[in-house]
Formats: sequence, C-alpha cells, structure tokens
Amino acid sequence: VSALMWFRRDLRLHDNTALTLLLEQVVQASQHTESCLQAVFVMTPKQWLAHDMSISQVDLMMRTLTHLTNDLNHKLGMKLSVLQAESYSDSIDVIEAFCVDNHITHVGCNYEYEVNEQQRDTALAKRLSKLNIKFNQYHDQCILPPNTIKTGDDTLYKVFTPFYKKWQQTLQISPPVLYDINSLAEGDIKQKLTNLNINQASTDTSSTQNTSSTQHTSSTQSIKDSHQSVLQRFTSHYQLSENNAETIPVLESARAAYPAGEQVAIDRLNSFVQQDIEEYSLTHDQPALMGTSHLSAYLTLGIISPRLCYLTANARLESKSFADENLVDSESELEIFENNSKGDVERWISELAWRDFYRHVIVDRPDIVKGAAYKKDTDIKLNWSYDNDDFQAWCQGMTGVPLIDAAMRCLNQTGFMHNRLRMVTAMFLTKDLFIDWRLGERYFMQNLIDADFASNNGGWQWSASTGTDAAPYFRIMNPFSQAKTHDKDAIFIKSWLPELKDIPANILHDENKLRKALSKQGAFAHVNYPLPMVEHKQARRYAIEQFKARG
Ligand code: FAD
Repeated sequence: VSALMWFRRDLRLHDNTALTLLLEQVVQASQHTESCLQAVFVMTPKQWLAHDMSISQVDLMMRTLTHLTNDLNHKLGMKLSVLQAESYSDSIDVIEAFCVDNHITHVGCNYEYEVNEQQRDTALAKRLSKLNIKFNQYHDQCILPPNTIKTGDDTLYKVFTPFYKKWQQTLQISPPVLYDINSLAEGDIKQKLTNLNINQASTDTSSTQNTSSTQHTSSTQSIKDSHQSVLQRFTSHYQLSENNAETIPVLESARAAYPAGEQVAIDRLNSFVQQDIEEYSLTHDQPALMGTSHLSAYLTLGIISPRLCYLTANARLESKSFADENLVDSESELEIFENNSKGDVERWISELAWRDFYRHVIVDRPDIVKGAAYKKDTDIKLNWSYDNDDFQAWCQGMTGVPLIDAAMRCLNQTGFMHNRLRMVTAMFLTKDLFIDWRLGERYFMQNLIDADFASNNGGWQWSASTGTDAAPYFRIMNPFSQAKTHDKDAIFIKSWLPELKDIPANILHDENKLRKALSKQGAFAHVNYPLPMVEHKQARRYAIEQFKARG
C-alpha cells in the first residue's frame, strides 16, 4: 500500500479521522508488504482569493503548515509536501500527477462541505478511479456530521433548539471517540512506523522537487518562501500596502493573538475549560472582556478537533458535579451550584452545536453556498440597498454609531470581532441601512481570521431575518441600547475610538444626547467624529415596512 493523506482544513495530527484511518490501514498492510504513507497540502491562492479568504487567515494557515511539517516529522517521521496549484481544478491535476509520480495506491482526506470543494473532490475521485487509485473521504469537521441529526420526517431541523436537543441526546447515547495515532502501535508510534518501513518513501529530504508534472515544496524554509509569496499576492489583491506584508497591522495583531500550531490550540482549550468557562454566561456577551474561548480560528482551519472541544467541556461538566458534592453542605446548595456551573459549560457546548447546525444547513441547501437566501421569498421581494457610500461608512467604522464603529475598526485591525458585535453590526447593515446581507457576509469573509462559510452565512442570514431560525424581522437591535447593556462603561468603544475618550458613557449610549453633544453648539462639537448616519427609529420603521410589504 502506498497511501497519500491530503490535508485541507484539518491541519492537525490529533483526532484527525482521515490521517488515523489511513495510518491504520498502512500499519496493517505493512505486516504483509512494504507500505508507505505520504502527506500533501495543495496551495490554491487564486481559489482562496475567489472565495474571499482573509489575509489573516491565509497567514495563520501558512504559519500552521510549518508546525504541521515539524509535527509530522517528529511524531511520525513523515514528510509533508506542499504542492503548488492555482485553482481547485488545477489541484486535481496536481494531485493526480503526484499520485502517478509516487506510485500512490490510496488517497484519503476529510470532507469539505461547500459546493466548489465537493465538485473538486467528485472530479478527483473520477480521475483516480480511472487510474485504479482508491479515494476515500471521511467526516471530520463536525461533532456530529451533516445529515445525522434529522427530524422524524428525515428532513433537516429548520430551528436550532430542537436540533440541539436531538444533538445532545445523540451525544449522550454515543459520545464521540477521539482518534489517537498513538494507539495504532504499542510504544513509540514513530519507531514502530520506521521499523515497518512505512515511511520509506518519505525519507527524501530534498527541499524542492520539480518533476515532469508537479512542483512541490517540502522544507520549512520553502514553506516560508511560499508563505511570503502568498502574502504578497493577498496584499496586492486587497490593496493593503505597497511594500512589506509584515508591517500590515492586522497581521501583527493576529500573529500575537493566534500563535500557530495544534498544541497552542489544545492549551487554549484546556485553560479556557479549566478557568474562564465558569464565567461564560456572565462574560460571553461583554466585548471588553476575554470571556470567550477565541478558538474559532483554530476550529475553522481544523487546527483543533471540535470533538476534543466537546469532550473536554463535557468532562468538565462531570468533574464539576463530582467536586461540588464535596464542597457544599446541603442538597439545595448543591443543586444551585451545579445548575450555575452546568449552565456555563452547557451554554458553551451549545455554541459548538450552532457550528454543527450551520454545516448541516449548507449540506441540506447547497444553493445557499451559491448565494441564495434560506427563505427564498426574501430574495424576490426585498428591495435591498446597494448604496456604496453607506456601505463604505459601515466597512470603515465611520457610521457615527459608536458601538458599530468600534466593532468594525476592531475587525479591520485585528481580524476578529466578538459574537455580540457581529450580530449588532450585521443588523445595523441589513436593517438600519437596509443593505443586502451578502455584501456584509463577503466583507466579513475577507476580514475575519476565523471566516468560515457556514457559520458566517448562518450568522448573516440570522441577522438579516432571511435564514433558518432567523431573528424575527421586527426584533431589530438598537445599537445604542446594545452598547448600554453590553459595554456599560464604554470601555470597548473607547479602546477603539480614542477620539470619544472624554464623552461620558451615558451620552455615547443615547442617540439623541450624542447628536446634541456633537452638534455645533454641543459640549463635544470639537470632537472629530461623524454624527450618526441614520436615525435608528426611522430606519427601523422603514425596515419593518419593507418586510411587511413582502406579505
Ligand atoms: P466561543 O464563544 O468560545 O464559542 C466556541 C465555538 O463555538 C466558536 O469558536 C465557534 O466555533 C462556535 N460558535 C460560537 N458561536 C457560534 C455561532 N453563532 N455560530 C456558529 N458557531 C459558533 N463563527 C465562525 O467561526 N466563523 C465565522 O465566519 C463567523 N461569522 C459570523 C458572522 C455573524 C454575522 C455572526 C452573528 C456570527 C458569526 N460567527 C462566526 C459565530 C461567532 O460569532 C464566532 O464563532 C465567535 O465569535 C468566535 O469566538 P470564540 O471562538 O471566542 O467563540
């Protein structure tokens, strides 16, 4: 057996379904015949740009490849070949050529659920089958894979809550089991693999190979070179800077906040679950605090396993109940204690379920991946605005609404935005400015380090009231009262809008007071900050009328 592991959005060794199952197959085969396992990653910069990938995400992906290369080498004695292509269709040629050049008999990878990705894999499967090469795909991105949680009528749940109930019940009956590469061999897996000659084909240490049909990079230095060239490409595409990609603020910030490598992500999970999760219900809606896990970028690129996240949090639930029994005196105290801590952990687990839910949705409705609204009638009847000035004011954080502007400037400078603020800014764009949600969805994809098609689309359609289990169209968030509730002392606002540092929070949280304060006769007329670009009450009325007129 000569097998090939194709890494995509699963850049890790732990609990990697395809990697473990391929290894298992190869270990078994090697007892009878010489066998080997190689690994590839295919760079497709043109496709990534066509999919609006953000520069901070491509940077994290490339940084992670260096770690993956080292981990594969140190833990399994395997080499990662980084192949160069442009688009997904080129990647099919590149994989095929690699297989031919390296006498590959089996290719394995984990499923990607979006439409272009599925088309690519179907086309590759056909090509490989003509060459008698086996192609196997595995579910790996979710805790419970798409199509597994369905109603009694075998259809997808249209609302999250019943989906979540069934998801929980299913997991209680059969919790996920983590794939562990170390369990494949007694003792040291790397030694075992070496003894079995499994990695024979991967001992070539040349840094760059050019064969007749494929070009690949294998040393960490060459990955660094590819990293630089991809960054330059993204820099010019997004017109970020004339000169050096290294000095782009969003990259500097993202590199500090998101170090690469699966161990960093696992450590972050463990420390979050041991400490911060206890306060999750209290703190997760406060953008000024680090109250959430900040694992999304790692989950999106598959640097951490979602099943590991679930099991770690679930174990915390169980250990919490056990420890509390020894801490509290009365049964009622125990119940209160348990409910509180359970509430926090369960709340966090439910966020992981949202991630699964939105993946179920795009598999059920692939037209959504091509830009359709979940509620099809909203595409026909809603007269969305495409006003570019309004849109640019939103993108640049120049709307005159402090919470919106602080959130957008935070996104532009760090590549991250807090969940509450994603909802508020998305509602502002789609309801106060009545701009097509697809423009905002695209802007988020282009700027978020954790950009993920299914979750982003789900969040946008929720906010625009066009999606599954969407916010009812008449329940429109007021960005001023949202600021009052979730950023009471305006700490978050002032950290991103220093020009507002002297304006008291009670003024910033009140549209009328703010307009007055910033007006020519106002106490803060000298402050260089725009007046709110729309009057929220009026804008709200207009949006509701539009939805009502839809019938
Ligand atoms: P935590 O609160 O620690 O949650 C743990 C994990 O659960 C997250 O890492 C994430 O994987 C998942 N999760 C949490 N909330 C949601 C949710 N509402 N939907 C789906 N999964 C969730 N999330 C993305 O990962 N990528 C996106 O591109 C994305 N775009 C969004 C756009 C909009 C308009 C909205 C409203 C939400 C979006 N989300 C997206 C969901 C959510 O905002 C982020 O997952 C969360 O802010 C990430 O921070 P965290 O890792 O600290 O989350």
